[in-house]
Amino acid sequence: MRKFFGRLNNIFFKVFGAISGLTIFFALLLGIVFIRLYTTASQRSRQEQLCHVSEQLATRLGDTFQFGDDEEVLEFLQIFNSFESAELWFVNVNSDIDVDSVLPGISMEIPTNQEEFLDVIEKTYEGKQIASVFYSEIHMATSIVVGTPVRGVGDRMVGVLVSIETLEDLDDAITGIGRMIFVSAVLALLVSGLIAFMFARRITEPIRQMRLMTRDMMDGNYKLKTGIKRTDEIGEMAQSIDMLSDKLLENEEERKNMEQMRLEFFANVSHELRTPITVVRAYAESLVDGVLTTKEQQEDYYGRILRECSNMERLVGDLLTLSKMQNPNFRIEKELVSLTQILEDAVGGVGAIAAEKGISISPSGQFDEPCMVMGDYGRLRQMFMVVFDNALKFSPQGSTIHVDVKCSGGIEVTIRDEGVGIAPEELPNIFEKFYKSRLLDNEKGSGLGLAIAKYICEKHNGTVRVESEVGKGTSFTFTFGTVASAEPEKEEE
Ligand code: ADP
Repeated sequence: MRKFFGRLNNIFFKVFGAISGLTIFFALLLGIVFIRLYTTASQRSRQEQLCHVSEQLATRLGDTFQFGDDEEVLEFLQIFNSFESAELWFVNVNSDIDVDSVLPGISMEIPTNQEEFLDVIEKTYEGKQIASVFYSEIHMATSIVVGTPVRGVGDRMVGVLVSIETLEDLDDAITGIGRMIFVSAVLALLVSGLIAFMFARRITEPIRQMRLMTRDMMDGNYKLKTGIKRTDEIGEMAQSIDMLSDKLLENEEERKNMEQMRLEFFANVSHELRTPITVVRAYAESLVDGVLTTKEQQEDYYGRILRECSNMERLVGDLLTLSKMQNPNFRIEKELVSLTQILEDAVGGVGAIAAEKGISISPSGQFDEPCMVMGDYGRLRQMFMVVFDNALKFSPQGSTIHVDVKCSGGIEVTIRDEGVGIAPEELPNIFEKFYKSRLLDNEKGSGLGLAIAKYICEKHNGTVRVESEVGKGTSFTFTFGTVASAEPEKEEE
């Protein structure tokens, strides 16, 4: 039972129910109104006709009773009798009149004592024509009964002419009309079933498709599309589902990429750490085994162990910084700082190495102005240090590193070296983690510096771009907004 009602609860049956209900309602309404109008109109016209003919006949009859047979009355009677469903009675109220001269077609006695007939006759006695419609028991049909006074000499009532016309044919017509309405309603029901079916299909088919697709999406298949191209609400919904599947596919791919990057990152970290650990272990073993006899040799090995350890320390430090920067919740503490002061500090920090390599650092532009930004002094210094370190590492002796500052409107800092340069195919990768040059000069490089520098720059709402030409040099340009445009946040890590 429940299952049956469950089935009826689908869209097809709902639409079918609504359309067929409406059809039946209107068919009934139209049928009733039409039958009523038709019955009233035809009854009225037949009653009027019967009254009119009866009136004329009564006048003729009056004459006949007065002056003897009249040709015309016979003619009238003939016409009257030609109506199949009509009948005439004459009720004599004046014994002076010889009604024995039976007129053909007129019954001289009342063959019923049905109250309604007697009522009509009685009322007609009062001298006026009376018309009434009721069910005649002797005719076994609804009938129009007209009582007409018949007047003789001096306008005296001599009798009542009762004309009866049964409405059997009208009943038949009504039955016919009812049957026609019934057939039309059945046809309309069939048509409405067809319309409901097509309409419901137009709604349910795309819904079914969308349901199948969302099930697929639940199973992790995001490549399917609904394929529904419509401009109505269903089309909009299908479009949203298609967009959702696109988004989920994008997210899935992003997740896979992230997973791949994470795996690569761990492989790189392990690799970067394993190499110095192996080296340190080898040196330590040599020292423990007593292979190294001279004090100089032993000191040399201790020195190497120390260098490897500081390299590892730097690498681990970089990794820590990087993991902090990658955390979306990480916020740097910002305060009003002078970018040129930070640059000066960074130049001072690499001054010794630059001097050692005979490389000069030449400032230009608005280097003497404060160029204030909202930022973290230490992090910004670290960012510039990465670029200076690289510039020194990849520049020949005696070359120059140019530091140009512009701070009108936004702030732009360009650090340009005259070093080996970067091949165009390598340029897009240099900000990637662990991407590093295989040059001998870069043995100690971890490939994390520029990745960290870029993160720091972005955390300050800045951008960094690189231009380079192999053999001629490389320039890094950092751009920051003005103090006003920088968010004056002071958030905790
Ligand atoms: P690292 O310097 O530790 O190798 P970075 O992330 O700082 O790592 O730099 C990545 C790579 O970008 C370098 O190994 C090098 O190949 C290239 N690079 C960066 N700066 C320069 C530069 N000024 N001149 C030439 N190549 C550079």
